[in-house]
Amino acid sequence: MKYPTLQDAELKGRKVFLRADLNVPLQNGRIADDTRIKAVLPTIKYILDHGASLMIASHMGRPDGIENPELSLAPVADRLSELLDKKVLFAPDCIGARVNTLAASLNPGDILLLENLRFHPEEKKGDLDFARKLGLNADIYVNDAFGTSHRSHASMVGVPEILGRGYAGLLVQKELKVFEKMLSFPARPFALLLGGAKVSDKIPVIENLLPRLNHLMIGGGMAFTFMKEMGLNVGTSLLELDRLGAARKILDDAEKYGVDIHLPVDIVVAPSTVRPELAEVVPSDAIPDKKAGLDIGPGTVAEFTKIIRKSCTVVWNGPMGVFEIAPFDKGTIGIARALAEATGDGTITVVGGGDSVRAVVESGLLNKISFVSTGGGASLKLLQGNKLPALTALRGGRR
Ligand code: ADP
Ligand code: MG
Repeated sequence: MKYPTLQDAELKGRKVFLRADLNVPLQNGRIADDTRIKAVLPTIKYILDHGASLMIASHMGRPDGIENPELSLAPVADRLSELLDKKVLFAPDCIGARVNTLAASLNPGDILLLENLRFHPEEKKGDLDFARKLGLNADIYVNDAFGTSHRSHASMVGVPEILGRGYAGLLVQKELKVFEKMLSFPARPFALLLGGAKVSDKIPVIENLLPRLNHLMIGGGMAFTFMKEMGLNVGTSLLELDRLGAARKILDDAEKYGVDIHLPVDIVVAPSTVRPELAEVVPSDAIPDKKAGLDIGPGTVAEFTKIIRKSCTVVWNGPMGVFEIAPFDKGTIGIARALAEATGDGTITVVGGGDSVRAVVESGLLNKISFVSTGGGASLKLLQGNKLPALTALRGGRR
């Protein structure tokens, strides 16, 4: 699918409404990590260098439609100003008379950051009247908020609709390019590594990718539904009884398509996550009745590592265990390391999904993976073969 890109836009002398994802983590009112701000700098610079003025809009946290000073974008305006070495105006709201006055004062090269879009309940509702107020001062709409592009919010879908069309920013283009290439012409062998809590979340991803895969590795909580279906005892591990049929179908389809399925050969079990000191490794066919599988074991890490090392493209979504709690993070960290090493040897590695990306960041391996998607939900939608509504909206026409 082709979308209009920023490079297609006539920017000179225009006012641009840039929807960015500046939803940075804050700690005591300070920015704890400015990765997301840095990620949109190329688009911001491109727009300013081409003679336009800029209004930037973003959400921050979950204010639930109510103004909340703790979720103000004001600290982002300061950081943006530092990073660009340039004055950044800040508007106390994202719509209204004050914004309109500030917007009218903008000259080419000027930047105005608008306050948190989600202080207004209309944003999440995709309200067109609200979108009209947002777009009131702009000639051109640019979307560089890849991570929000699966949402039909007013600033994502409504504003381009009001302005007739929109353009994909540089970050969005970069994300799309990776996913498009990977989904259409993956370098083979192509392996998918899935984990996380729920089978139900991942079924659409498997269904979309299975015909193209060479290897499917399954770890995390979702593995137990597959193991149960194969006749193994899973103790008190996470289990989706209503997905046993879906698991069976995936196992059968894999055989039909000639995809090798790899399930854990050993499991770290414990009575529960609150007794980490009782964690022990057991073979997958020997999970005790009263224990839960909370991570893949070292034997599984070794097996999965072998598959990763002989693959040319590996996509990973979903942690291998309850990585939030040590020692159940070992499997996830081991896999993150295996991916990093494979990347060093030329394998294309892609990580998508909020928790998986967090695991990679926490392991300090962010820069050692070919591509870490900034969009959890949005990247999952692409892996499922879905279109993103905010990108469709760029092409104009009604929803
Ligand atoms: P992502 O955000 O990367 O898409 P998910 O949201 O699907 O990943 O899954 C992440 C969650 O899965 C984590 O909170 C993790 O604790 C949980 N999880 C992983 N393995 C297990 C397991 N064996 N038992 C229970 N929960 C698990
Ligand atoms: Mg998640």
